[in-house]
Amino acid sequence: MSSSDPLLEELEASGPVQIVISDEEHHQFSLDEEALEQILLQERVRDLHVVVVSVAGAFRKGKSFLLDFMLRYMYSQGSDAWLGGTDEPLTGFTWRGGCERQTTGIQAWSHVFTVEKPDGSRVAVLLLDTQGAFDSQSTIKDCATLFALSTMTSSVQVRHASRLFTEYGRLAMEEIYLKPFQSLMFLIRDWSYPYEHAYGLDGGNKFLEKRLQVKQNQHEELQNVRKHIHSCFSSISCCLLPHPGLKVATNPHFDGRLRDIDEEFKRELVNLVPLLLAPENLMEKEISGSKVTCRDLLQYFRAYMKIYQG
Ligand code: GDP
Ligand code: MG
Repeated sequence: MSSSDPLLEELEASGPVQIVISDEEHHQFSLDEEALEQILLQERVRDLHVVVVSVAGAFRKGKSFLLDFMLRYMYSQGSDAWLGGTDEPLTGFTWRGGCERQTTGIQAWSHVFTVEKPDGSRVAVLLLDTQGAFDSQSTIKDCATLFALSTMTSSVQVRHASRLFTEYGRLAMEEIYLKPFQSLMFLIRDWSYPYEHAYGLDGGNKFLEKRLQVKQNQHEELQNVRKHIHSCFSSISCCLLPHPGLKVATNPHFDGRLRDIDEEFKRELVNLVPLLLAPENLMEKEISGSKVTCRDLLQYFRAYMKIYQG
């Protein structure tokens, strides 16, 4: 690509911005209001209904990796070749200077995309990276709070995890009794039982259904978690992703180029990303049954932060 490529120029001018910062020592969160204002109050987007897609998980699960492909999709709207060139290094949330820091909190992509939906309405699309720490009892509690904040402010939350239930059962449940949320997608990485449940959404949903079944002989606490999950979200789904290959997982020089990623994984990416981001699938953020604009979202962030700051 030459430097006069408008997409590249836009990419170069935008980047990840830390909007929620966690202070691990004091177990507190703070909102960088100014940073969030700059993103949400741009004239181009502030009065549009907003779609908020949040990828949430622990460190080094592949959140940034996935988000970078989501960025590629968003920047190449409408092109079939969105996945990119064979030898093009991946950029965005991951391989950018300064982003190697293992910060917990929420990062937003500074560029808010605008998309025309099939019904002719224009919506704004905000991408969030929510990173929590799970390494001690106290951080687990912080993480639950952070994930709840992310759940409340997003229209779709993608939970990036290696396992389905343990994490979720333990976390967040006590935090989200407040009101029903929108859509939750469990993304299970490195799925190694495709002969039991196939990769992708079909296999994932069957797997999820099985795991969410409430059975008589289950521990009561587990039964409650399962019932509660259903009452909290208007839609829950699950997607099983294959292992991306050894280069992705272990080579320190891997820079995200497609050549180094397993075919099977790329095939699933090509299915998954449009499920979340194609114009016909975009879901606007709703709060108490009404769609909210970027400007409203800023107010909700402020209000929710207050709840957690006590
Ligand atoms: P983040 O900390 O959750 O944002 O994780 P990153 O996206 O930075 O990825 C962490 C490491 O995991 C990198 O070396 C990636 O190449 C690798 N990775 C990304 N996706 C996957 C995956 O689905 N499975 C495995 N095993 N590794 C992955
Ligand atoms: Mg990351």
